[in-house]
Formats: sequence, structure tokens, C-alpha cells
Amino acid sequence: MKALSAVSAFRCLGAECADTCCQGWAMQIEPATEERYRKEAPDLLESVTGPAGQRHMKRNPDTDFCVRYEGGLCGIQKQHGEAFLGDACFFYPRILRRAGEMPLMSASLSCPEIARLALREGLLSYQDVPEPPRMPQEMRSYAEPDMDGAAMMALHEALVAWALARPAEEALLDFALFAEHWERDRSAAFTRDTIMTLRSSAPKAEKLAVDAYRLAHCLSVLILASRRKAPPRLERIEQDILEELKVGVNPETFMIENKAQDFSAAQKLEAGWRAHKEVMAPVMSRWLAAQVSASFFPFGGLGAGAYERAVLLALKFAIFRLGLMAHAGKTSEANVDEAARVAQGLSRFMDHLADPALSMALYKDAGWTQLSRLRGLLASG
Ligand code: SF4
Repeated sequence: MKALSAVSAFRCLGAECADTCCQGWAMQIEPATEERYRKEAPDLLESVTGPAGQRHMKRNPDTDFCVRYEGGLCGIQKQHGEAFLGDACFFYPRILRRAGEMPLMSASLSCPEIARLALREGLLSYQDVPEPPRMPQEMRSYAEPDMDGAAMMALHEALVAWALARPAEEALLDFALFAEHWERDRSAAFTRDTIMTLRSSAPKAEKLAVDAYRLAHCLSVLILASRRKAPPRLERIEQDILEELKVGVNPETFMIENKAQDFSAAQKLEAGWRAHKEVMAPVMSRWLAAQVSASFFPFGGLGAGAYERAVLLALKFAIFRLGLMAHAGKTSEANVDEAARVAQGLSRFMDHLADPALSMALYKDAGWTQLSRLRGLLASG
């Protein structure tokens, strides 16, 4: 099977983890694992809750940790061994899927160690590895009517490599141009020549002063709409952005409060970012390659079709970059470790949204589903 090099290097940080996956998430338990508990470890049954089809580990209502979390480690693993973990806990942060018949393993930036391996170490190439002895009970399969698994993988790997080889802003525009074209002509190949032709007829960038504020608004609305308190890392990212833009969000109306329509804070933020842009460019390229890999773009991820997925990816990037800009504005610093923190905090929220309908409605309202506006937004950093 193919596996991302970051997955091969990954070792769980356990008690040292800065944002453990054992807190804040309802980790699913599939029927086969619950059945195993029934037969071999009935004491574990009391830790599982939820209706049929949505069974998951209980969480401590005071701490939001899994009830089996013990001093930084998993109590089930400690007492019964890792074979008793449900698939979600056993495989996280690995993401397993099939491209046609070909199994494929990538990883989520929502894990701090994966964020570090991807952004700092740049472990973002695919390798052939033996299939692990345990595979998930259920694995999502991706199939395209006119492509086999090898062809899907070849296109996907070409996009990962493209992301790594140029500024993320440029690669994202290329992805959107290609995705739009490919939806009309499925025989189009992702080659340099195709991209150069598409670039030559791309619409001009349409940038608006209000864009950074609308972006901040999107993030805040998505957090408010989730009806859950933002985890600390996400809350800090949101606060840094709002403070640097000198605005607030009204929790009743969900509106940004910038009554004076003063956009100078965003201009200042953008001007300050220029000092960090060059050094952070490779980190942002790695972020993009990691996201392409994690979502199996252009075949997987949220969004109806390749173009919508490209738009969602570009918007996720714009929010990530705004988070970096806000941190740099606040501290006059930008480095890969802070980028990994921002990437992980956002990924933990944005990569786990179940439905893109609200995001797409917000982005459409801002005009960013049009190529000219998307190009303007990408040019803002
Ligand atoms: S988030 Fe990653 S490093 Fe942290 S506890 Fe979970 S798997 Fe381990």
C-alpha cells in the first residue's frame, strides 16, 4: 500500500501531547469492537454510549476527556492492550482509504505530532509500505468512472508534488483552474502545459479591503454555529485574528462589529506579514501538500465536485494564513512551530466539520466561489 512518509515516522506523544485527541472528541466504537467488549472485557461496556450506529466512548462532563483517559495515557490500552481500541482510536491520526482497489494511508494535521512532522520535517511523500496487520472495519473507497486506482493516485501525487514546489497561493489558484477545467473535460491531464494555458486565460484578481474581515467572520460564524465552546488552541487563533483586525463578533447577531468600516488594521497586518512571507512560504507549501494528502484531493474531502473542493481548500488556506499573520502581528514573530500550532488548532475544527453547506454559503456570499474573487483573496497575503 501507499503511505505518507509522515505516517511512517509518526509516534504518539502520549502524555506529552499539547492537544490530545482523548479530549473533546466522541471517538466512535464500531459494532465489532463493542461485541468484543461484550465477550472478552465486559467492564469496558459501561464506557460506551450513544444510539445504534453512533456508539462512541463516553466523556467526562467536567474535563471533556474520554472516561478511560488516565494520566495522559489511554486506560484501555494500558489494561487490555491496543487490540481493544476501537478503529477511531487505534488508527487516529492515520487516515485509511482506498483509491479503487489500492489502500492508501495519509494523516490528519489535527494531531500536533503530525503537524510537526509535516510542517517542520516536510515528510510529505508517498512510499510503498506493507499493509499493516490490522485494517479498519470500514474503509472509504474512492472510485472514478474513467480512472483506475493507479491513475487516481498518479493525479493525487502530482498535486502533492505541485503544492510542494511553489508558493501555496500559486498552487491553489492552479488547483482551482484545473478543477474547473477538469469538471468540463475529464480527459484533461494535470501537466505544466495544461496549467500554463489555464493561467493565461485566468480572470484578473479582484481583491476587496473587506476580505480579511469577512474571512474572520466566516471562522467565527463556523465556531458559533458548532454550538460548542472552542477548544483553547482554536479560541486563541480566533482571538488573535479578531484583536489584530480590531473587531469583535456579536454572538447574538453573528455579525462582525466594525462600525467605522475602518480597514486599516488589515492593511497593517498585510504590510507586517511581508517581512515573514518569504521564510514562511515553504511552511505554507507543506501545509497545502499535507491538506491535499489528508483529503485525497481532488477525489476526497468535503465539497460537491473538484472545483468546490478546491475552493474549500483555498479558503481553509486563507484562514490558516490569516491566523499566521495575526500571530506575527501580535508577536513580530513567525516560525514553523507556531505555524504547526495554528495548523493543528484549525485542522482540529475545520477538518472535522461534517457538512460544508454553511462554509460554502458564507464563501459564496463573499464572492469567493468565483475565480476572480478567489484569486484576489489568495493575493492578499
Ligand atoms: S493527538 Fe496525536 S500525538 Fe496527541 S495523543 Fe492523539 S495521536 Fe497522540
